[in-house]
Amino acid sequence: MQDDSRHFDLIVLGGGSGGVATARRAASHGARVLLVEEYRLGGTCVNVGCVPKKVMWHAAELAHGFEQAAGYGFALGQAPQHDWGTLVERRDRYIRRLNGIYGGNLEKEGVTVVFGKAELLPDRGVSVAGAEYHGDHLLIATGGLPQWPEIPGASLGTDSDGFFAMQQLPRRVALVGSGYIAVELAGVLNSLGADTTLCLRRDHVLKAFDSMLGDTLIEMMVEAGIRVEKNCSIAALEDSADEQQVIASFEDGRPPETFDSVIWAIGRTPNVDIVALEKAGIEFHADHRIIVDEYQATSSAGVYALGDVTGPIELTPVAIAAGRRLADRLFGGQSESRMDYDNVPTVVFTHPAIGTVGLSEAQARERYGSDSVTVYNTRFNALLYGVLDEKRATAMKLVCQGADEKVVGLHIIGDGADEMLQGFAVAVKMGARKADFDATVAIHPTSAEELVTMK
Ligand SMILES: Cc1cc2nc3c(=O)[nH]c(=O)nc-3n(C[C@H](O)[C@H](O)[C@H](O)COP(=O)(O)OP(=O)(O)OC[C@H]3O[C@@H](n4cnc5c(N)ncnc54)[C@H](O)[C@@H]3O)c2cc1C
Repeated sequence: MQDDSRHFDLIVLGGGSGGVATARRAASHGARVLLVEEYRLGGTCVNVGCVPKKVMWHAAELAHGFEQAAGYGFALGQAPQHDWGTLVERRDRYIRRLNGIYGGNLEKEGVTVVFGKAELLPDRGVSVAGAEYHGDHLLIATGGLPQWPEIPGASLGTDSDGFFAMQQLPRRVALVGSGYIAVELAGVLNSLGADTTLCLRRDHVLKAFDSMLGDTLIEMMVEAGIRVEKNCSIAALEDSADEQQVIASFEDGRPPETFDSVIWAIGRTPNVDIVALEKAGIEFHADHRIIVDEYQATSSAGVYALGDVTGPIELTPVAIAAGRRLADRLFGGQSESRMDYDNVPTVVFTHPAIGTVGLSEAQARERYGSDSVTVYNTRFNALLYGVLDEKRATAMKLVCQGADEKVVGLHIIGDGADEMLQGFAVAVKMGARKADFDATVAIHPTSAEELVTMK
């Protein structure tokens, strides 16, 4: 006879952004839901991603604010001192509070939560610490893990998880990678006083975005004091004589360098057990991302996957939206509910921030042909810098398509881009034309007004 306490309408593997959202929405529709989490509720985003990262970014922005204050007439006396330990302690306390809130919300919705490592079994089954559970539906939302290079001594470095565990600011640090995590962490460490090197395998950063963003960012990182080393591949790491530092040697034979910390930020890989997937008949790509259709269904009936285990866009709101749509479809009677992966806006928390939505200029030209693409650019110093000796540019680009100039891409780098983008993303999602932007009265004096006054 079937044990009802071990049988659920939906079993969710992973209590991160996507898993929690799906479990709560399914339970709100009346489904009996089991969620299994190995570590802490909230997943990557809450524990070692968006949230702690944004706290560190705020600290870095404040440090920059102190530098600017004198230009605005403030006498701050001796240079402000920053205590890394206080920041980390307060940040981690905030995260523990969020872990509790996540648990409370799941409890309120009536979701059963089990802590432990879930092992996937065939036929929508799962084993946790020897106990077996089965579901009518099963969702894999186990997220991703940082990738490490296969070079001698790689383990002497660390990754973004290790960055959040640092108990003191490294004096000399190398970030390896060109994606958003590398440039964000480089910005934080540099602003808080570390001697920071960014090692790029080639010569660009943020290659998935419009090239204007990456090119301008490199310029600004260099101005801010980050050493950007292009065509720089670390061949090996070894301990220094006192084992307090690591020595990096390079593939091109340039002189070795000593760092307090080397942080690998070279990409992330899906957190999946390939053997278990194979046994359960779940197909995956060569890079181990689980293959799903537009309804998040895998090749095994009743098994779904979403978030970082599938891609294509590894962001918290994407995992959440995909999960809620899936739960609405399975348990809320909305048979066509599914995630739309077009025009997803995103912000990179650099200094200054980047906001981007839609197609890059290159993507638009490739998709629509150069003749039907019109591009508007602007670059200026925000009013904040008018009274300062320091200048930091803001750059913006609108990519438009067709005779009626539908806005298919919008890209900003500059102070305030992080909070500027969301509203413009609504306009792009709704199919706004350049004429709609022009017809919108500017808000003066702001940086955002430039987006509706571009010529
Ligand atoms: C440094 C960093 C900064 C980021 N910044 C941003 C940002 O600013 N904005 C943004 O939108 N996104 C950001 N992201 C990305 C974001 O964190 C992820 O896209 C998001 O967390 C993915 O959600 P998910 O549900 O797919 O997986 P996760 O949130 O990773 O959750 C997966 C969960 O599954 C659990 N798990 C894994 N295997 C098992 C198992 N076998 N049994 C039980 N539990 C298991 C894990 O412990 C984890 O809690 C950042 C990521 C990183 C690393």
